[in-house]
This record gives sequence, C-alpha cells and structure tokens, in this order.
Amino acid sequence: MRPSHTLIIMMTMFLLGTFGAPDGFFAGQKTSRARIKVQPFGKLADGTSVDIYTLTNKNGMEVKITNYGAAIVSLTAPDRRGHLADVTLGYDDLQGYVQDTPYFGATIGRYGNRIAKGRFSLGGVEYALAQNNNGNHLHGGIRGFNKVLWKATRRTDASGAHLKLAYLSKDKEEGYPGNLAVTVTYTLTDENELKIDYNATTDKETVLNLTNHSYFNLKGAGSILEHELRLNADRFTPTDATSIPTGELRDVKNTPFDFLRSTAIGARIETQDQQLLFGIGYDHNFVLNNPNGALALAAEVYEPTSGRVMQVLTTEPGVQFYSGNFLKDVKGKAGKVYQKRGGFCLETQHFPDSPNKPQFPSALLKPGATYKQTTTYKFSAR
Ligand code: BGC
Repeated sequence: MRPSHTLIIMMTMFLLGTFGAPDGFFAGQKTSRARIKVQPFGKLADGTSVDIYTLTNKNGMEVKITNYGAAIVSLTAPDRRGHLADVTLGYDDLQGYVQDTPYFGATIGRYGNRIAKGRFSLGGVEYALAQNNNGNHLHGGIRGFNKVLWKATRRTDASGAHLKLAYLSKDKEEGYPGNLAVTVTYTLTDENELKIDYNATTDKETVLNLTNHSYFNLKGAGSILEHELRLNADRFTPTDATSIPTGELRDVKNTPFDFLRSTAIGARIETQDQQLLFGIGYDHNFVLNNPNGALALAAEVYEPTSGRVMQVLTTEPGVQFYSGNFLKDVKGKAGKVYQKRGGFCLETQHFPDSPNKPQFPSALLKPGATYKQTTTYKFSAR
C-alpha cells in the first residue's frame, strides 16, 4: 500500500472516531454515537474543583450531571414534533446545588426518605441520626450524599455513554454504621433512556436506601397538574401527620391514590382526604406490583400539550410520588422560578422507615453482600 493510501485510511478512521461512524458502517459491529464531555462547574468553599459532565446520544438528547451530589442538572427530551426541551428542575451553577434544599436532581443516601425519630437498632445497638424533618430523619441527614463530592470516571461503548460516580461514606458518617463504598452509574442510551445503576458494599451491618431525587416537568415549565400519571401499584403506605408510614399497606381502590389507569395528577389532589391533607398533596410511597425485583415498569407520565412521555422502570419495591408540594419561589435554571407543583418526583426506593418496620422489605446491608438497584427513565412522545 502506498503511503498516501495509508494516510487517507488513517485520516478517515480518525474522523470516524471523532465524529462517529454511521450505524452499521463497520459490518457486524454495533456502534453508539453516545458521547461524554467534561467541563468545570465551579469551586467549593475549600477550593475543590467540581465538574459537570454532558452525555449526548445519537438523537441529540443531552443529560448534564455534576459530581457534586451525583446530581442530574438537566435532561432534554423530544416532544411530538421532535423539539428538545429541558424537563428537569435545577440550577445554572454549582452555588445553587451547594445551597439547595429541595434536593433537585440529587443522589440521595444513605437512607432516602424518612426514618422515624432518626432512630433504629441493629444487632442490639441503637443508632441516632439527625432529626432534620419534623422530628424525623430525611434523605440521609444534614450532609447526605447530595452534599458530597463523588469521584467520576467515564466511558462510552456500544450500549451508550456511562458516567460512574463513586463515594466512600465513612463509618459513623451522619450516624450510620459501617464504611460504605457506593457507586452510581448513569448510562444514556441511543433509545433515549437514562439508566441508573447503584451498587454498594459495607464492612459492618448498615441500612441503605438509595434513590434519585429529580424533579420533572415534561412541559418544560409551569404546573405539573395536567400531567397524566399511571402507577403500577395496587397499594400504598399511608402515613401519620409527619409522613411516617403507619405500617398498613392500603388498597388504592376508591381512593385518590388509584393511578392504575392514567389520571391527571391534579384531578383529585384537592380532595378532602386525610392522606392528601397530611402530604399537602401527593407525598407517598406506592407499593409496586413487582414481587420478584426484576426491572419492571413502575410509572408512566404523559404530558398532553407536548406529547412527551416518561416511563420509569425499577428493580425497587416502592416509589415515592411527590407532587412538588413544598416548592415556593425557588430561583432555578435560565431565570425560571419554581412554584408549588412546578415539578414532580418519582423516587424509586425501599419503603420509608423500613429499619423500624420488620414487615416491610428489608433495607439492611450486610458485609459480604452487594446492594444493587437499577432505575431507568425512558423518554418518548406521542
Ligand atoms: C419528600 C418530601 C420532601 C421532598 C424534598 C420528598 O422525597 O417525601 O416530603 O419535601 O422530598 O425534600
């Protein structure tokens, strides 16, 4: 082969490597055009640099994630005309995430949701955690996984763009026992899915309930009350006035909690129902109809004006449906100000207060065992 030919072949391969080869360009080889780039996102008070990662797929869908709080900063999804819009709530800069209180986009741990009075016992030892929500423990405490810096590694392969975030939570951190090594891997696929794989191991018995706290608004702005929701749940866990489950698994039939058929979020939210009054709207854990822990459809949300659809699939037994009841005047991205019911969360999880409810699926993690959880958010339009 003449040197000029070799040069042309090398340049072609370089260009394909940089800009992506067309599907099936290399016979028999599956390719993905998913990409990840990294940029600085700012500095913490102690001078530590924080990054923001942009994952892009072949359809132009883009997900931005920061290693501060392993949080989703933005996510674009196409409407029925193919128009992409950011469908998550968040902030423009790192400072927003440092000061954040609604947990926008964040990874939550060690224990997502509530533990009554911040107390639980393991092996005869009582542990006391921060009581940071009406006398109860919420979302991992004062400095939960949403307020720590994660170590990022990235790669792309045939299945998409992967961002792996790792954190070592030390024994006694926020009062929890055991050194806990956690990873959260975000994968953006060419099928417009954002897949989240969680993994954790411990050196002492501990409790663990990881979730993601993204707020979605599939219209891109305004109220979420007209979004139509379907939940694959025959039962939910009613609570006391402080949102701690009573232990009952209540049938949703003939209650405003029946989302077995797609129903507007706002259709029954103002009903004089004791549970809705306790939550100031929906802020409840639903018991998913998924007895064997396989990755299965938990929820589907449809937004009628844009046609956007989000499906949530999970291996978890529960999902907290929170209708953004406590949002008020939150200054967010691109000059937006988020108000009550301006976003909703579907937090896939073990049930709240499981460490004190032996009848609930166990949130215990023992040394030698590996905690695994997968949740996928899949976007389409109709
Ligand atoms: C809780 C809400 C809480 C919100 C933000 C949700 O997971 O269930 O009660 O207000 O997180 O903190």
